[in-house]
Order: sequence, then C-alpha cells, then structure tokens
Amino acid sequence: MPRPIHATIHTDALRNNLAVARSAAPDARVWAVVKANAYGHGIERVFEGLRGADGFALLDLEEAQRVRNLGWRGPILLLEGVFEQRDLELCSRLDLWHTVHCDEQIDMLAAHKTNVPQRVFLKMNSGMNRLGFSAQRYRAAWTRLNALPQVDEISLMTHFSDADGPKGVQAQVDIFSAATQDLPGERSVSNSAATLRHRDAHLPTDWIRPGIAIYGSSPDHPAHSAADWGLLPTMTLASKIIAAHAIPAGSSIGYGSNFVASQPMRIGVVACGYADGYPRGCPTGTPVLVDGVRTRTLGRVSMDMIVVDLDLVPEAGFGSKVTLWGCAGNGAILCIDEVAAQAGTVGYELMCALAARVNVEVTA
Ligand SMILES: *Cc1c(COP(=O)(O)O)cnc(C)c1O
Repeated sequence: MPRPIHATIHTDALRNNLAVARSAAPDARVWAVVKANAYGHGIERVFEGLRGADGFALLDLEEAQRVRNLGWRGPILLLEGVFEQRDLELCSRLDLWHTVHCDEQIDMLAAHKTNVPQRVFLKMNSGMNRLGFSAQRYRAAWTRLNALPQVDEISLMTHFSDADGPKGVQAQVDIFSAATQDLPGERSVSNSAATLRHRDAHLPTDWIRPGIAIYGSSPDHPAHSAADWGLLPTMTLASKIIAAHAIPAGSSIGYGSNFVASQPMRIGVVACGYADGYPRGCPTGTPVLVDGVRTRTLGRVSMDMIVVDLDLVPEAGFGSKVTLWGCAGNGAILCIDEVAAQAGTVGYELMCALAARVNVEVTA
C-alpha cells in the first residue's frame, strides 16, 4: 500500500471558478493563467476544466509545448516573454504570443527570421517595478515594435501591485490610461483580485488574466473568503489517521514538545507532513477536517506526520479520513486560504508546493 495521502483535482470546480471570473468581466476574453504547472495542480490535470478559456497564459516554453500537446490550438501567452533569441523560433513554431517588457526583447525580435509576424503584448511598468517599460518610455517602445516586420498586432498590458488591498488600482490605471490613450490595440490589466474586487471600475480590459481565483482561492483573503466570491476548491489534500492514542494530562506532542495536554485527550497521527507540501509553519490550532468534522492540529508539523485533536471527533480512529484542505466527502470544505493564513502565507504557495511524492487524481 502506498501512504494514504493523496490529492484530488476537481474539474467541475475549475469550470465553476472560470465562469465566476468570466461573469465578473462579461465583455472580456479570459486568459486562464496556468504558470507554475497550473499553480501546482498539473497542466494536464486542469486542461479539461479550463478548456472553456479563450487562451492559456504561462511562463515556460516547456509548459507552452505541453499545452499544445494537449491539442490546444487557441492563443497561448508567455507572460514574461522570451529569455533568449532562440526562444523566438519556438514562438514561431508553436504560434505563441509573447510579452515584450524590455529593449533586449525588441532587439531579439528585430533579429528574428520569420515570415509570419508575431502577436505581442507590450508591458508597462505602471508601479509594480518588476517588468515593463515606464510610462515615459512606453510609446517609444511601441513605435519601435510597430515598425518591425516581425511584429503583428500589439496589445497593451500592465500588472497591478495592490488589486487585493486598500491601495487599490486607480493610480496605476491612471498612469496606464494616460500613456496609452491614443494607441491602438487590445488592453489587458486585470489579475484575479482586479477582476473580482474592481469589477465596477470599468478597467481597460479586453483580456482578463485570472490565476488564483480559478484555483478556488480568494485573491483577497481574509477580506473576502473564496465562498464570498462563489469559488470552489479545485485541489483537495487528504490522508488518513495511521495511529490513535489516549494521552494523559501533561503529555507533550511532537518535536520541541511545544504542545502540552492540559487534560487527558485523544489524538490521531495523520500521514501528512511538510515533505508532502503541508506547511511546517502551521502552528497548533490549524484547522483540519477528520471525517468531515472540523478539528485542529497539535504540536509541530514533522516531515511525514501531523497530530490532530480527536476530542471533537469521538468516533474517529485508525483509518479515519483527514482533509488537510479542500473538500471532505460529507460536503464540508476547508479552504486552503485558512490553512495558508495559519502558516503566514497565501493559498498560492501551498498549491504550488504540493510535493511530487503525493499521488494526484482527477475527478469530475
Ligand atoms: C500570475 C499572473 C497573473 C495571475 O495572477 P493571480 O493573482 O493568480 O490572478 C496575471 N498576470 C500576470 C502578469 C501574472 O504574472
């Protein structure tokens, strides 16, 4: 028997979440962002649930090749563009659209030998200070690109730093809009948080770029929960109790003995640890479902095991099902955002960190 831990990818939930994003921007086309191997879910595993998107956006050429291998003939966008000259040959061969964020990428395009002009997304740095041309230099970059025979249509894009928080997007929208107002081309500005939180702001958006929302995590947790947005978990991490014990008051649990029972209690040992991708930073009290009933972790997470409190689940014992995040069989849901928050991080990181040793299945 393999260890009982496994992950499940929920195809219907992906479809639901894609529809949620689409309904927040009904006039826009949707890039389903599948970078980082579809946020840890596996590109091949999410494809069926996301094939209703208008395109797939990602970073790696190897991942783009995998999307083409699945039979996808529609648009694919490289969100960071090319990294070296020969990447452009693959762009031509696989018909990839690519971001242009720096002069070096324009130099590469100018040197690229192709008969078929390429569709590009010209990126502006409107305040994030990661990738893109400044507002002042944007028009010169556009003019230079527009003069290249290697370039077909030019779309205009930027990325928000604070779509999920109090600062919001307006300052960046103003910079982007002012610098692009008389330029032709489609616009793409919104990630998940901008799509959901700023849906009434009339953002310049022919293409939205939702990532995290389609994986069922709230882009602005805890201001809104996934349920508030109508999002469903797309990944469940589940395992079983492999030992149950009754311990007397005064017993400590796990490395460092940092949990001490103040009264006699029943505990269960779960086959799941940080080597499976469960965050070691989750302290005592992190929520977990046992047989679909909410209880809590006790003590430190170790490499292969976690201990949980069974006092709230009296019938549970050896073999009971444990849901670390996602959906329990009885309809109960433990949102990945709650677990992430306990570890001081975000749902994105937990999904992406699902370990290779965990078997994954796909369901409806
Ligand atoms: C990752 C990424 C997105 C998706 O962001 P979410 O917060 O997951 O919705 C959108 N645009 C760009 C440029 C990205 O890199």
